[in-house]
Amino acid sequence: MSKTSNKIKMKKFIIMLSVLLAIFVTVIVSSYMIFNELEEQLQQNLEDVANQNSLALHNKIHSNHLLLESLSGNMHNVTPDTIDDTLQSFTIFLDDYELKRFAYVFPDGTSYSTDGGTANLSYREFYQRGMEGKGSITGVLKDALEESHGLVNVMTIPISDEAGNIEGVFGLTYNSQTFNDALQIECFDGMGYSCAFNGDGQIMVAMGNDILQLSDNIFSDVLSGDWRNASSIEKMQKQIENKTSGGGTFYLTEKNYYYCMPVNLMDGDVTWYMLTIIPADVLESRVEPVQRSLYIMAFIVVVFILIGVALIVMISRDGQIMMMRYAYEDPLTKGANYAKFCLEMKKKHNTQGYLVVMDITNFNNINIVAGKTAGDDMICYIWQILSKELQDEEVAGHVQEDIFVLFLKEEERDAFTERLNSISSLVSKRAKELQVNGIHSRYGIYHMQGTEELEDAYSKAQIAKEYARTQKELGFVFYRDMNHEKMQEDQQLEERFEESLADGDFEVWYQPKYSADSGEVVGSEALVRWRDKDGSMISPGRFIPLFEENGMIARLDEYMFRSVCRQQAEWLKKGYKVYPVSVNLSRASLYFADIVEKYKNIVQEYGISPHLIQIEVTESAIEGKTDIRNLLENFRSMGIQILMDDFGTGYSSLATLNMRCFDTLKLDKSLVDHIGDKDGETLLYYVISMGQQLGLHITAEGVENNKQLEFLKDNKCDDIQGFLFAKPMPREMFEQMLNK
Ligand code: C2E
Ligand code: MG
Ligand code: MG
Repeated sequence: MSKTSNKIKMKKFIIMLSVLLAIFVTVIVSSYMIFNELEEQLQQNLEDVANQNSLALHNKIHSNHLLLESLSGNMHNVTPDTIDDTLQSFTIFLDDYELKRFAYVFPDGTSYSTDGGTANLSYREFYQRGMEGKGSITGVLKDALEESHGLVNVMTIPISDEAGNIEGVFGLTYNSQTFNDALQIECFDGMGYSCAFNGDGQIMVAMGNDILQLSDNIFSDVLSGDWRNASSIEKMQKQIENKTSGGGTFYLTEKNYYYCMPVNLMDGDVTWYMLTIIPADVLESRVEPVQRSLYIMAFIVVVFILIGVALIVMISRDGQIMMMRYAYEDPLTKGANYAKFCLEMKKKHNTQGYLVVMDITNFNNINIVAGKTAGDDMICYIWQILSKELQDEEVAGHVQEDIFVLFLKEEERDAFTERLNSISSLVSKRAKELQVNGIHSRYGIYHMQGTEELEDAYSKAQIAKEYARTQKELGFVFYRDMNHEKMQEDQQLEERFEESLADGDFEVWYQPKYSADSGEVVGSEALVRWRDKDGSMISPGRFIPLFEENGMIARLDEYMFRSVCRQQAEWLKKGYKVYPVSVNLSRASLYFADIVEKYKNIVQEYGISPHLIQIEVTESAIEGKTDIRNLLENFRSMGIQILMDDFGTGYSSLATLNMRCFDTLKLDKSLVDHIGDKDGETLLYYVISMGQQLGLHITAEGVENNKQLEFLKDNKCDDIQGFLFAKPMPREMFEQMLNK
């Protein structure tokens, strides 16, 4: 039981864990997917921004280049004498184009500028490239034409004559910062930044972030600070080599995404690289709200699931409690039922003790006499007695109707039976209060050694209790004390009953009754005899109590009644003198409400006078039966006389005499046997005279000697039945006797 419930719990736990894990995995996977998606989008954005930046750079430089180209037409044939004038004519463009100056370098390296100064710039690369016929735009240089040596960029183009000979190098100079400022393009809400660097990695324009300084080298000064950037540097250098675009990540104090693309300037003479950068934070700050909503959603789902699970657990616990109640609570006593008893017993480590099955004889009398509610109250009362009786380690349960089960741990047998007796006396006391007769507690007991199965022990105790039923004087029976051989025989008798009935193995014997006065036959009693297959006789004392116990007796009584009727009809037909024959009816037969109707039909079937049949019932058979009076009256009104059998055994009560629903009082042999002792004779005298007073016919049973006969005659007893005159005899013999 507990194993299965553990399994179920484990299963529930695993399901729960799987659901939570599934949610967890879903959240992780989806946030990873969202992150990837956004990362891709960011890369795309980066590329767009980089394109935009490079276009801006390109345009800026291109417009200056165009300016330079268009002014270069004025530079042909200039000489050191004319150069100043020529240059001065260009100063009008300086402000519009945010330029520092125009300058011209003669082939000997002497430069003239709109500022007016001269210097030798033959060492400058742009001069050397110019003399080779190539234009250039320099990186950040220290201004050679100014004392403060501010930072500048220089754009130059070669000036050549028609024959292609280089006449000089014409150029313009930007203040680096101005150039830089002009290219400030805000991207990613100011969080992104970019720079342009030349093929050597030197930063030409730096936008938006002071990490990147003009004239820094992107590779050596900026990226080499973090070892994780090695592969990014390598990748970018490869891009430069191949003049291709591409993106990736690198680290500047934190993680950044970048996109790098070449920008062709000066009609292809110069190539710079536009590097656009965005800190990974930006992406994370974009992913974060999505992730947060995702986590909130997951949280809500988990909360709902937990609430759901909690509800299910609560409902199922309520259900379990209900089920436990249905399964283990007795609906009447509200205490333990048999299942609960078994459960408690199975929990025990040591089941050494007495297992007791208890029931109440004639419990139905309470229902009949005091009512069903009183019956139910009695069950509850017994349960209370048992509950109070229980000590440590002891258990009880209400099995059904008037059956209870107990497990008592008493060591001494006497102490144990003492406890049963005290239960019995409480039960009897209550029955007396209810004025119901015949209520006794009966116990079947099995002494458990602690090794046997509970079910086995219970059924043995039950067998002992059944045995106690047949042993009327015993209140309790120990299984071990039982006559198991007899029980087996009983079982065999029960099994043979039907067959014997069909085979006619039950014979009707007759014991004549005689008039005390005349000594003439006045009637007889039909007594059953069971002839065994081997011809021997089984005595009624052996099987009648057994069949009374199991209810088979009703079939046998009917068989006897029918046989007697048939026999009477046959004797009448043969012209014999016929006397009334009394047939015994057991308590069990009287339970059938249709018995009168049925027996009436049998009498009519054989067409005999009802006066030829009598019925014997014992006092114990009618005890506690409330409608018995009606039943007996019905027989009488039909013409069948009723004989009160075995009067004087058990608790003969005056109340029975007073019922006035029978015609004859049959004094039991035990009373007759007292003839000879004074008290017995006095008792008999009063019983007889009381019967006579009530107008009853008196028959004495078991009369064995003349002394008894004389006493009975003296006391006006009507009929005599006993061995003194005749023993019960088979039909043939009785027939002969009648015909004498
Ligand atoms: P019972 O109805 O009281 O029958 C009288 C019993 O006393 C008979 O025993 C009979 O043989 C015995 N008896 C008669 N005179 C004497 C005597 O002088 N001395 C002694 N010692 N015994 C005498 P039986 O035939 O063994 O029957 C025993 C009981 O079995 C009957 O007692 C009756 O209660 C029951 N019984 C017999 N036949 C039937 C039957 O067909 N149906 C039912 N329900 N019970 C039957
Ligand atoms: Mg009898
Ligand atoms: Mg009798």
